[in-house]
Amino acid sequence: MNILDKVKIVLVETSHTGNMGSAARAMKTMGLSNLCLVNPVIKPDSQSISLAAGASDIIKNAQIFTSLEQAIADCRLVIGTSARPRSLQWPNLTPKECGDKIIQEATENADVALVFGRERVGLTNDELQKCHYHVGIPANPDYSSLNLAMSVQVLCYEIRMSLLNRQTVLTSQCDSAIQFPKDEDIERFYQHLEQTLLQTGFINANHPGQIMGRLRRLFTRARIEQSELNILRGILTSIDKKL
Ligand code: SAH
Repeated sequence: MNILDKVKIVLVETSHTGNMGSAARAMKTMGLSNLCLVNPVIKPDSQSISLAAGASDIIKNAQIFTSLEQAIADCRLVIGTSARPRSLQWPNLTPKECGDKIIQEATENADVALVFGRERVGLTNDELQKCHYHVGIPANPDYSSLNLAMSVQVLCYEIRMSLLNRQTVLTSQCDSAIQFPKDEDIERFYQHLEQTLLQTGFINANHPGQIMGRLRRLFTRARIEQSELNILRGILTSIDKKL
C-alpha cells in the first residue's frame, strides 16, 4: 500500500481549468495521485490536460463531488489551507507540521484530505470550520496569496519530505540492529593483518611504509560490521594455514 494514496488533494470550486492541470502536475511530481474536485466552475478540459503535461492521468481519474462534505466523508483527518489568518482562531500548522501530520495519520491507514480554496476568495469560514487544522504558507505578509497550483506544490513537497524523512529514520533504525565490533577486536584484526602481510612479504619489515595506516583508514571509512570482521579474520587464518 502506497502511503501517499491515502492523501486526497481537494480543490473547492476551482474557476480556472488550467489550475487543475497545474495542480495535477504538482501532485504527480511529489508522488500524490488522488485529486478531488468539488463543484468545479468548469469541468476539466483541454486546458487542464495541457497544463497537466505528463500528469493528465490524474485529471482523468479525478473524482468530482457536489459538496465538500461528500469529498471528505471517508477522511479521518482534514486540513484546510488559507493564505491569510481568519478571524476565528483555529489550531494552526506550519507546512512542515502539516506534512508530518498527514504522513503520520496516513501511515496509520487513515484517509486524509488537504483542502484548497477558490482562486479569488479561498475557503469560506464554514468550510474552514470542517477542518481539524489550518495550514498557511508563511509568505510575504504584504502579498501572501500564492497561485492555487503553486500552493499545492509547496504543501505536497512537504508531504513528500516528511515521507522521505520517515523512511530515513526507519532505515537508520534498521542500521541500529547491526552489530559493530569493539575497538579491541578491530585492533586485533589489524595486528593479525599486519602479521600475515609480513609473512607473505607484502610488507617489508625494514620498510613498512604507510601500508598499515592506509589500510586502517580504508576499514575505518567502511565502518566494518562484526560479521564482516569475522570474515576478514577467517580469510587471514586461511592464508596463515597455507603459509
Ligand atoms: N484571497 C484568498 C486567496 C485564495 S488563493 C484567501 O485569502 O484565501 C487560492 C487558494 O490557494 C487558497 O484558498 C489556498 O488553498 C491556496 N493558497 C494560496 N496562498 C496560500 C498560502 N500562503 N498558504 C496556504 N494556502 C494558500
